Amino acid sequence: MTLQQTRTITRTAFFLLFLLAPVFNIFRFDLTLGNFIIFGQAWTLNISDILAGDSLDAAVRIFTRVLLPFFVFVAITGILIWKYGRIYCGWLCPHFSVVEMFNELMLKQLNRVTVWEKANAPSKGVMPKIIVALPSILMAFVWAFGLLGYLLPPKVLFYDLIHLQLGFGASVFLVAATVVFSFDFIFTRHVFCKYGCALGLFQSLIWMANNKALVIKFDRQRAKICRDCSMSTLGKSGSQKPCDAACPMRLPTRNMKRAKFTCTQCGECVSACSQVQKVKMNKQPSLLHWVSGEQAIEVDRPAGSLESFNERNNEKNSERNSESKLNASQKISIKEIK
Ligand code: SF4
Ligand code: SF4
Repeated sequence: MTLQQTRTITRTAFFLLFLLAPVFNIFRFDLTLGNFIIFGQAWTLNISDILAGDSLDAAVRIFTRVLLPFFVFVAITGILIWKYGRIYCGWLCPHFSVVEMFNELMLKQLNRVTVWEKANAPSKGVMPKIIVALPSILMAFVWAFGLLGYLLPPKVLFYDLIHLQLGFGASVFLVAATVVFSFDFIFTRHVFCKYGCALGLFQSLIWMANNKALVIKFDRQRAKICRDCSMSTLGKSGSQKPCDAACPMRLPTRNMKRAKFTCTQCGECVSACSQVQKVKMNKQPSLLHWVSGEQAIEVDRPAGSLESFNERNNEKNSERNSESKLNASQKISIKEIK
């Protein structure tokens, strides 16, 4: 199974969990009862019981039912983010799944991944726009309804929706959330992931603080392969390099860590380069690969450091050498022709 097939499975499973968790009472907050439902059990602090008991009993209950689970959750999540960055975004997040889904649809219908990019080729007529807009609005409605299920009993909600007897509050929520999500899915889905998501930003900041965390590294020693690599290598149109074109977050995939601050560890750039190497270089390994520990430090050394200065010089020299070799061979072949 390929890396991207594995990711499709994890993303799809989490997406289904996101939509169905309230339906199966796995997790929801019931506004009508005023408490959480977790794995079918009402989760409540029973404040009146606690106040009626002695203070030691109250402290034990608050510690075991609130503080302990909270700190365990924060500690495990913190360690994972510290080591692996925004792995939740790339491998589980339902919003990122929608981002990728509509990236593909837009590329197919409008020849560009977002409305803010220049199209590779003009799209014909209004039909492609409708084919993008309708699923976006439908998905926005599914999201709005799914989220409402976290607050009101989903089965009752579903019954009310089918019989067109939703209450005023639920109807307003559904319409407003559908409009907001439609706008997000069509126009600003990447922008939201990059700048609007507090959870994403929080993960990026923790990841950046650990210079040994998992990160995508570019193999600079083989950089000259990139010179004549383009989308046409994979039989596709477009002026970007395949690795950059594949990035759902529209990042400069071969650049240093700070330029990829919002990287979601999706590995799309790695897979795209693997494909290029398969087609072009007789199955050589991808020029982009994950590293951690000491090797990860090299991906984001300060711009002015001696190592990065030397590295940039080596790269330029290697490019110059390959250019002069190319020119020399061209001159020889011109002489041969003459
Ligand atoms: S896909 Fe690979 S070979 Fe092509 S530009 Fe990107 S890193 Fe270089
Ligand atoms: S840089 Fe690579 S791993 Fe990071 S988001 Fe872009 S494609 Fe995914």
